[in-house]
Amino acid sequence: MSDKQIHNFSAGPCILPQEVLAQAAKAVTELDNIGLSLIEISHRSKEFVAIMEEARGLVKELLGVPDNYSVLFLQGGASLGFLTTAYNFLPQGGKAAYFNTGTWAKGAIAEAKLLGNVDVIASSADSNYDHIPSEYKVPSDAAYLHYTSNNTIFGTQHKSLPTSSVPIICDMSSDIFSKKINVSDYAMIYAGAQKNMGPAGTVVYIVNNDLLGKSGNTIPKYLNLQNHIDKDSMLNTPPVFAIYTSMLMLRWLKNLGGVEAMEKINDAKAAAIYAEIDSNPLFEGHAQVDSRSTMNATFRLKDESLADEFNAMWQAAGISGIKGHRSVGGYRASMYNALPLKSVEKLVEVMRQLAAKHA
Ligand SMILES: *Cc1c(COP(=O)(O)O)cnc(C)c1O
Repeated sequence: MSDKQIHNFSAGPCILPQEVLAQAAKAVTELDNIGLSLIEISHRSKEFVAIMEEARGLVKELLGVPDNYSVLFLQGGASLGFLTTAYNFLPQGGKAAYFNTGTWAKGAIAEAKLLGNVDVIASSADSNYDHIPSEYKVPSDAAYLHYTSNNTIFGTQHKSLPTSSVPIICDMSSDIFSKKINVSDYAMIYAGAQKNMGPAGTVVYIVNNDLLGKSGNTIPKYLNLQNHIDKDSMLNTPPVFAIYTSMLMLRWLKNLGGVEAMEKINDAKAAAIYAEIDSNPLFEGHAQVDSRSTMNATFRLKDESLADEFNAMWQAAGISGIKGHRSVGGYRASMYNALPLKSVEKLVEVMRQLAAKHA
């Protein structure tokens, strides 16, 4: 490892705690003194079954998952989750309600349309997804309402549960485990690991068992969540490394005090960056204030001609990964769980230095 401290603001795959990386690296060589690597043992071995059970158990414990819900670690990322959602909950030719709040929401809508009708109940496309729409009505005959809790690319986040009389399904890829949630508000939550939970390669599903099996669809085997529940998330070979490392990350989170402690730290990080965006005369935010994400802060220079100078400064300060997504431009500071407050403070310091030079 290099001595230079790197402040990793990567939007995903995300920063992981150094201790988690060290333990994961060791397990690739040898898992817990069994003389074999984590990635060369059977997923049916007692060692790996214990890892899978601990990972699922930690999800339940950290989020307070009710007993009638199942926790699964599957493959295909959140992207396959878009289709899995539709197959399991949207009757062929039926209707589902979707928020369109950005790239990932649009992806979910496109997949649902393969099965049924999508009622886009609200969209912020007209203003390049700079806010979460507050005006919407969920039709009572929709099979479910789908939303993206945090819009990773645009830096917006739902600040409260949408009002809905139908079951709610949420893509929580980029803010799961960042704060307290009430799982019983949801029919299903799914989240790709690599934004806020672990490395790429697995996606967690938290699903209300009582609501499955009602779509009437013929569901391909791997997409049928009931099959995975029946096999304790071992229908086929699970992504062992991604699950193990996610489990380590969840242990780390538990030791830190769980999601409530994490939420306080995340709020402090977000408060620091947004205070600077608002007070620094050289910068402006992309997201509207009341829709701002705690996880991804999007902002830009008011005067693009300062970009080369600013870029050189943050790079020299050891900051990595703040270039904005091409659909927004500017900068994006992703402040996932493992990013320390001091990294945000470093970025704020560099933004101030730039302003001081141009005062
Ligand atoms: C990254 C992301 C996705 C896509 O995740 P994959 O695991 O790459 O399929 C979906 N939704 C959100 C909110 C994301 O941030």
